[in-house]
Amino acid sequence: MSDCLFCLIVEGKIPSKKVYEDDRVYVFEDINPQAPTHVLIVPKEHIAGLKEATPEDAEMIGYLNLTAAKLAEQRNLGRGYRTVLNVGPDAGQSVFHIHLHLLGGRPMAWPPG
Ligand code: AMP
Ligand code: ZN
Repeated sequence: MSDCLFCLIVEGKIPSKKVYEDDRVYVFEDINPQAPTHVLIVPKEHIAGLKEATPEDAEMIGYLNLTAAKLAEQRNLGRGYRTVLNVGPDAGQSVFHIHLHLLGGRPMAWPPG
């Protein structure tokens, strides 16, 4: 989608600090980090969000999570980390191209804000 911020980042048309890339996902540093590790795991295909996802997206949603686990292991976040999908305006979703936040490197409070 030509007017989607994360599609433009995936295509390299808007700069980002790349952390990891394969044929399915692109991972980059969040511009406003909330923890020592705060990266965004984004499918290369445009999916608006969890609310809009279809059964065909199930494998991709799983893959986002497995990519988070792999990156967390590489970063020695074994003591704990958090993956977050913000869904809809009340949850603070501000970019409507699905992205899994991976946060770690500090203790995480519960319940989240
Ligand atoms: P959400 O609120 O779940 O939709 O998350 C959107 C995230 O994207 C926020 O944590 C923002 O800090 C982050 N963000 C917005 N624009 C950029 C950008 N150009 N590069 C990296 N991260 C961004
Ligand atoms: Zn997009």
